[in-house]
Order: sequence, then structure tokens, then C-alpha cells
Amino acid sequence: MIDLRSDTVSRPTPGMKAAMMAAEVGDDVFGEDPSVNALEERLADLLGHEAAIFVPSGTMANQIAIRLHCRPGDELLCDTTSHVYLWEGGGPAALSGVTCRTLEGDRGLLKPEQFEGIIRPKDIHSVQTRLVCLENTQNRGGGRVYPIEDLRAISGWAKEHNIAMHLDGARIWNAIVASGIPAKEWCKHFDTVSVCFSKGLGTPVGSALAGSKDTIHTARRIRKLFGGAMRQVGFLAAACKYALDHHIDRLADDHANAKLLAHAVREAPGLKLVPESVETNLIWIEVDRTKLGTARDVAHKLKIHGVLVAPLGDQVIRACTHLDVSKADCARAGDVIRKLA
Ligand SMILES: *Cc1c(COP(=O)(O)O)cnc(C)c1O
Repeated sequence: MIDLRSDTVSRPTPGMKAAMMAAEVGDDVFGEDPSVNALEERLADLLGHEAAIFVPSGTMANQIAIRLHCRPGDELLCDTTSHVYLWEGGGPAALSGVTCRTLEGDRGLLKPEQFEGIIRPKDIHSVQTRLVCLENTQNRGGGRVYPIEDLRAISGWAKEHNIAMHLDGARIWNAIVASGIPAKEWCKHFDTVSVCFSKGLGTPVGSALAGSKDTIHTARRIRKLFGGAMRQVGFLAAACKYALDHHIDRLADDHANAKLLAHAVREAPGLKLVPESVETNLIWIEVDRTKLGTARDVAHKLKIHGVLVAPLGDQVIRACTHLDVSKADCARAGDVIRKLA
């Protein structure tokens, strides 16, 4: 089976497993796990923030950030298709009493102009606008890389109005490799940044949140509250360290493989790439009902020929490239896709 459903399905490599088993560990709730401490320091340095905290999932990293920046009754601003709003179980409302005010971006990407005049008045009636959450790369928008000049402008606007900025950087590594723009340049526009190791970087578990020393100190309290403080978790931190050392540059292969697949989709009658261009490792495909039936029908047909994709809407499919699919796998999957109709 060639599994393109998600970039989370990859399994740890032998090298990663060896690094995990060799990890020095301690009780991280006491701050005594050397592997976690080293990873948090390295991440803070890499992302250009004062401190970082290791957490079990990207969802938890994002939801800790929302709790950090907002109070119950506040609103955050995000794109309609953003992960924090759509795919985190209603976390902002459920965990922090925060409403999401969604703005319609251009395939997930918000423009600086959309923020003008948008802040609610400071009176006793109004919900209070407190936070902007942006995603890079933007998942539902097709793994797109944010134009950095837009981030600069939005963050300038936020500073001027005392609004906090959070980056959902679950796939920031893909943005870094695709754009050639280093992590610090992306992250300096945000008060907090979440990153994931279990997507393209291929670890079994692991995410982190970076920010100022004070912010991350409070984040430790919230992580405990949310049930995410773990003990000898250096085994996982070692996997993340291994991924930082060995699995970032190779994301370029995932991006090239995604382009191979995209090429096949363009040639398949009844399938349409949306968006048309593929910038990183995610491919979103619209299925023409009259030619191919539903997304589920297409996924079922592909599965019979050894290719797994994710139907994520009645007529929408996502395919992802990752560590566990080779160029040859993608070429073969491409052949299957071309022969669909
Ligand atoms: C996967 C993902 C996350 C975090 O997901 P977890 O499964 O909780 O680690 C956050 N944001 C985006 C854009 C994602 O794709």
C-alpha cells in the first residue's frame, strides 16, 4: 500500500529508533529530563524566541497559546479553514471560552487589508479582539507558503493595536524548505509559535510551543492543566532531535514527489487540483461527481490498486507525501491516478 492519506502515517526510521533508545531521560515534570531540556533550548534558538516547551501534540500547543493570549469572552481572528478553528474539536470555546471570528482568506491565506478597522470597540457590550492565529504552511489551502511580506504587514498591524500573534507552524519546516527563508525570519513576526515533529519530520509524537520566557513559564502551568505534562519523555525528545538533524533537508524530496503526483492529477479526467499549484507536500483534489462519483468512490477505487488517499469532504480528497513514500511510489501512484476514469 502506498499511503498518501496524511504526512502523519510515517513510522520512525531505524536511526530514529536507535536515537530514542539511547536517550538520557529524567522526570520532565520536575524539569529533570536532559533530552527534553536540550531540545527546548535548541528549539528556542532555532525559532528565535527566548524559550520553548515540549508538548504531546500540535493541537495542545495551539490551544495552550490561545489560553495564554486570551481570556474567556475574547475573540481570536483566523481564516475560515484554519486548523485551530476547524480541526481542534472546538478547543478555543471548550478550553478557553474564546470565540473564533473567521475571515475568508484566499485559499486559507489572509491579506493585511482584511484586518483594517476590524477590532471591536472597547465597550461593555463588545467581544474583545485579542489574538490573530495564522497557519504556515496552510493545510486546507493546499499546503501553501504564506507570503512573508503579508506576515510582516499583519504583525505590524497587530503590534500597533496591541493584538497578539500566534503561528500554527505545524508545517513550518515545509515552508522553510520551500521558500529558503530561515525559521527565525518567519517566527519573529509572532508572539508564540507552535511546531510539529510528527508530520513531515516523521517522529511518532511531539510538538512544541516557543515564545518569551514569561509566556513559556505560564505555558508550563497550562500544559499541566491540560494534562500534557509527561515524565521520562526524553525518549520522544530524542526522536525530535534526530528529526531536526536528519529530516529537514529531505522535505525537498517530499515537495518534488508531490509535484509528480500533481502532474498525474492534472492528466486525470474528473480530478482537479485546488489550488492548481502545489508548493509543498499537500495536494488537495476536487472530484467531478458526474465523471467519478464521490470522493469516497475515488478513494475506494485507488485503494483497490494499492493507493490510499483521504476523502475529506463529499467531493474533496487530500494526498500527502512524506518520509515513507518514495519517488518510485509516487510515480506508481501517479499511474494509478491517471488510469482512474
Ligand atoms: C496536524 C496539524 C496540527 C496539529 O495536529 P496534532 O495532530 O494535534 O499534532 C496543527 N495545525 C495544523 C495546520 C496541522 O495540520
